[in-house]
Amino acid sequence: MERVQAKKISNTNGVQKIRAQFPMLGKRINRRTFIYFDNAATCHKPRVVLDRLQKFYSDEYGKPDEEHALSKEATKRIEVVRKAVANFIGAPSEKNIVFTRGCTESINIVAGGFSKGVLKKGDEVVISSLEHHANIVPWQMACETSGAVLKVVPLIDTGEVDIKAYKSMLSDKTKVVAVVHASHVLGTILPVRQMTKWAHEKNIPVMLDGAQAIPHMPVNIQELDCDFYTFSAHKMGGPTGLGVLYGKKKWLEQIPSFEGGSDMAKKVTFENYEYADVPQKFEAGTMPFAEIIAFEALINFLERMNMQKMFSYEQELLHYAEKEFNQIEGLHMMGSSADKEAVISFHIGENHVKLLEKYLNERHNIFVRAGDLSAQPLMKLLGVKGLVRISFSFYNTKEEVDTLVKALKVYLRNK
Ligand code: PMP
Repeated sequence: MERVQAKKISNTNGVQKIRAQFPMLGKRINRRTFIYFDNAATCHKPRVVLDRLQKFYSDEYGKPDEEHALSKEATKRIEVVRKAVANFIGAPSEKNIVFTRGCTESINIVAGGFSKGVLKKGDEVVISSLEHHANIVPWQMACETSGAVLKVVPLIDTGEVDIKAYKSMLSDKTKVVAVVHASHVLGTILPVRQMTKWAHEKNIPVMLDGAQAIPHMPVNIQELDCDFYTFSAHKMGGPTGLGVLYGKKKWLEQIPSFEGGSDMAKKVTFENYEYADVPQKFEAGTMPFAEIIAFEALINFLERMNMQKMFSYEQELLHYAEKEFNQIEGLHMMGSSADKEAVISFHIGENHVKLLEKYLNERHNIFVRAGDLSAQPLMKLLGVKGLVRISFSFYNTKEEVDTLVKALKVYLRNK
């Protein structure tokens, strides 16, 4: 992506108009305005989502899957949202969309399903070195249960996966590849289309952890051709407690559900149970139905915003910030992948990771994240205990980056 001049990027009016639609961004914290650079952890909600939640709770509230009028309406709405999600990610049908309680649960459904229904002793599961704990531990558990072995694709210096090593790791023993689409630490966008193609040549299914990709770029599942795709609503401006698992029909039908209860079974006796059809087969218990219904407002909002435009804007912010950061002596950025999303992790000396986070928070009302970022194995590979992470959203501005840069320079001068 082309680097742009700082003066071109500001687009103050456009961004301010976007910001005005996020009530939280206009609030004061400790009586001051704040700068929010922790979007990879969770991002703020546009008013349309809050209004939809409020409307459902105050005007329409009823639990789906029952017979009365309120319930029927809620059931209908949920299926409308399922369709909207399918359209948003280019899935062939709403039947490919399972609602979950978050990306972590989506991954656990896949890993749990594979551990019970697919993996055998001596099989191999391939993940990458960039994974969040959410895409490591469920597969470790799956390996513990099944006797399969976890294989980890190494990194090259830029923070990209070693693609040649990946290709050579795929074998008859590999029963699933589960990798992140975009890294929450280094921002690396993986060549997932190519990786999926190679896996499919050996009939190996691929799960992509899309938690950090879907909030920032257009995603078309059919182009990616992955077998599973997982994400959380809260990281893209939707409600908390809600996630999505996309799955190809044949896989959703093949793997067992790892949770039981309520409508995931259509027939239950004391001796046995019969699964409900896909996708309800995986939706055990009362789902976060208000959140699902409000999620539609977010999907419509993002479609109006245009994900391609948002991606380009975030790339401009990223390149601007990287250029500024490069000029700060003593600041070391990690990860220089050519395909990178708008995340910068850096360090300024081991003992300063948490101190800097605190300083930015307390002195400047700038909210960032620091520590192991739920990626302890990656930190070990990078040779650090932790990093400071700045993660952008389309509502961040160049002026906010300037304020951060000034604050960093003051901290480093007085370190
Ligand atoms: N994968 C990645 C890459 C993430 O960044 C995160 C959250 N930080 C998750 C999975 C888990 O998401 P959640 O906690 O919303 O389930």
